[in-house]
Amino acid sequence: MIIEENVSPDCKELFEPISANLFDTLYPDIESIRIEIIEKGLGGYSYKKKYVLYQKADIGRNIECGNPRCTGGELELKKFVDQMYRRKFKNLNLIQWCQGYKGSPYGKERYGACPNQFEIDIKIEYY
Ligand SMILES: [Zn+2]
Repeated sequence: MIIEENVSPDCKELFEPISANLFDTLYPDIESIRIEIIEKGLGGYSYKKKYVLYQKADIGRNIECGNPRCTGGELELKKFVDQMYRRKFKNLNLIQWCQGYKGSPYGKERYGACPNQFEIDIKIEYY
């Protein structure tokens, strides 16, 4: 089953927003930013979710993995933006496996890596 879902820009509950003021303090040289994330549920969790963020104020720190059995699977967007900013990269395109694991509640037992995957596309324009 594939579910296509566009969650933009009213996806506030999934993101911890950074205010535009804080964004400008952290990244004074960024004029605009566009982040597109496609989350693919692989294995037994076959689905597809797409997040597109255009506004500085919408750029959150984390995207939660959608696999209900995943523990610790958060994608930290800020980490990628920080790396790009340091080197003044304009484009970043990569695929990252979810860093979480399948486990029992409260993480007492671990049954292996989460099969989900994030396709990350970030474009930054600098002043
Ligand atoms: Zn996961």
